[in-house]
Amino acid sequence: MTLIPKSHPRAKSLFIREKLVNGFEKGLVAREGLLAQGRGEAFDYLLGEKTNQAAKRAIKAAAAQLLQAQRPVISINGNVAALCPKEIIELSVHIKAKLEVNLFYTNEKRKQAIIKVLKKNGATEILGTNPKNSTRLQGIDSARRIVDKNGIFTADVVVVPLEDGDRTMALRKAGKKVITFDLNPLSRTSQTANITIVDNVTRAIELLSSEVKKLAGKNEKNLQKIISDFNNKKNLTENIIQIKKNLTRRAKIA
Ligand code: ATP
Repeated sequence: MTLIPKSHPRAKSLFIREKLVNGFEKGLVAREGLLAQGRGEAFDYLLGEKTNQAAKRAIKAAAAQLLQAQRPVISINGNVAALCPKEIIELSVHIKAKLEVNLFYTNEKRKQAIIKVLKKNGATEILGTNPKNSTRLQGIDSARRIVDKNGIFTADVVVVPLEDGDRTMALRKAGKKVITFDLNPLSRTSQTANITIVDNVTRAIELLSSEVKKLAGKNEKNLQKIISDFNNKKNLTENIIQIKKNLTRRAKIA
């Protein structure tokens, strides 16, 4: 483990990177997961490494959508398990969502390492672990097409942090409402999801739990209004404009 001084101007981002590398060393994260982190870091840098107003609006819409859900499921991959296991479990408790481990580059050893971390952080029920309960989602080739009959397969709302586009499309085709965290507003996942939170999952996850608590007393009509007032395409465009502004500002400084 490298020592990052707290005074370092980008200490927070470097801590996030460190978590991922530790997760890789513990067998949670695939090599490809490190590359996904790198792509995320590049966009985080361009977004100013903070939660912007557009992301806050997406978080509010996501909270309303999750409170309205009948059968919400949170899909967990290696990066998420390495970055924010405690926070993701807290969210699942607040919204009464099931947790399902679903890996792109699957292998049993890695799956078990992820399950161990989730249990250590308080998860009691983890789906995606019993082959007898597995079934296939149409429209994807990777191992990710295997989903749990009692989880993603029957879910109405699925939270898929750091997801790949094929799976997001397949989930949408299967009639699911998809909420994602993705720092790249241009990715296929961002463009396909119903609600894209363009922010680092490590910052946004707790904000989402807080928003869920804040909106918990609202009635159906209020929640529905929050959801229908949200426009994902418009929100993504706002994020792209934010990146352009940041680039212009940086170019002027340079
Ligand atoms: P797509 O198939 O949707 O076009 P992709 O192939 O570019 O996406 P993947 O590697 O499948 O991307 O998924 C990783 C995504 O997660 C990337 O868009 C990356 O920006 C994003 N990402 C990586 N780390 C984080 C993070 N900590 N928080 C939020 N998003 C992240």
